Amino acid sequence: MSDIFDVIAVSPHPDDAEIGCGGTLTQLAEKYSVGIVDLTNGEPTPFNDDPEIRIKESLEAARILGIKRILLDLPNRELMDSINARIALAKIFRQTKPKIVIGMQGMTPQASPDHYQSQLIFDAATFYSRLSKWEHLFEGLPPWRINHVFYYFTARELNLAPHPLQFIMDITEQFEIKKQSLLAYKSQFKAHPSYNPPIIDWIEGMGRYFGSMIGCKYGEIFYGAKILNFNLFQQFLDRSNNQEGQKE
Ligand SMILES: [Zn+2]
Repeated sequence: MSDIFDVIAVSPHPDDAEIGCGGTLTQLAEKYSVGIVDLTNGEPTPFNDDPEIRIKESLEAARILGIKRILLDLPNRELMDSINARIALAKIFRQTKPKIVIGMQGMTPQASPDHYQSQLIFDAATFYSRLSKWEHLFEGLPPWRINHVFYYFTARELNLAPHPLQFIMDITEQFEIKKQSLLAYKSQFKAHPSYNPPIIDWIEGMGRYFGSMIGCKYGEIFYGAKILNFNLFQQFLDRSNNQEGQKE
């Protein structure tokens, strides 16, 4: 019996989801069941000779975040949106029944083309997950409808703004854990300070930038796949009423 997840983040390579939303994932993991699905093992890379090392690092990163991870093992560097890749990811969704899924959005020129392909696979898989009369493609697994589809941002994408729905999560309390989860990838970051910019400077700058937009120290930005039917006015009024009588 496989795990059931409340939240799944889909990562083209082990480390992308941590970069984009590691703070949010570990925050959610305090209350909910959270997983990362790695589409590929991310190897080969310039400074690592053994794919097993990257896998071990990714499991250590997941342990630090308090989440689980699944490796789909599609081909790194050759990741392409295809019917087989879509079905493979949709099958994970049908098995693990996430209520929220978060993928990487957008093109990343001069970084891996796998990133954008992962979005195409992700978008199709969220749709395939709910399609009826296709059980024969999914070993009899019934459809699973995912109503809440979001994207994370890693500061390599072209499309920062504007976007019909975007919000920032306050990850100030989780920032140190996020940093440690990334330092677990020694083969990618820690052993190679020649990487420019160093991973921690990059993560720190991105976190501070988004944090400053909502008046906190560190933040992570998310985009919605569609505009929501959500009564924000009601939320704001309820929150204001609850704050009445509190000290300034
Ligand atoms: Zn990547």
